[in-house]
Amino acid sequence: MTYKVAIDGPAGAGKSTIAKAVAKKLNLIYVDTGMMYRALALFVLRQKIDLQDREKIVEACEKADVTIRYEDGVQVVVLNGENVSPRLRTEEVGTAASVISPIPEVRRKLVVLQRRLAAESDCIMDGRDIGTCVLPDAQVKIYLTASSEVRAKRRYDELAAKGEACDLKKIREDIEERDYRDMHRETSPLKQAEDAVAVDTSDMTKEEVVERIIALCGR
Ligand code: C5P
Repeated sequence: MTYKVAIDGPAGAGKSTIAKAVAKKLNLIYVDTGMMYRALALFVLRQKIDLQDREKIVEACEKADVTIRYEDGVQVVVLNGENVSPRLRTEEVGTAASVISPIPEVRRKLVVLQRRLAAESDCIMDGRDIGTCVLPDAQVKIYLTASSEVRAKRRYDELAAKGEACDLKKIREDIEERDYRDMHRETSPLKQAEDAVAVDTSDMTKEEVVERIIALCGR
């Protein structure tokens, strides 16, 4: 059986930054499931499908082949043969991903891929439903969170560092709206698994969080 670490939590809690660092230290592959939802969202946006048109989205997703490969240990998302990773980290794609992710057909397709990856290699996987649904037998489950104020400020600093114009209040509203959608959907809503350990990173440095998770892994 492979070794699995599941990290769930709301947008901007630092899941991917932390998971990447832990993966490196513990020699695990890092699986970013949000990027898979983002790839399907990009496909839907490119087809100019109305995000409320569930039937068309399901139809389109049947034509989208999402696969993952690793280049120098970094996850690359391939959509119908194209490396789309550089296109996925925009607010537009993130919001579209959270609008299409409640659709059960969308989730089923990606969960198959996620479970296959975890069965093949020791991994740390992050998302919204990893501990509760995708990998219920993960040896370590973490629920990573921080106040929406802190998460919005982190995203603001990230965008500002890239020289992108942004508005802190708007970022916080978008994050809270996305959390609401992710926590209140019918299929696999974001929630802490019963056997997950909650880590609130609001007042912690990145190094402290990584150390805490490695201690929880006991490796
Ligand atoms: O984590 P990230 O911001 O990249 O995820 C984008 C969106 O994809 C989330 O807001 C959520 O709606 C969806 N998602 C999900 N289940 C996952 C990972 C992401 O529903 N396991």
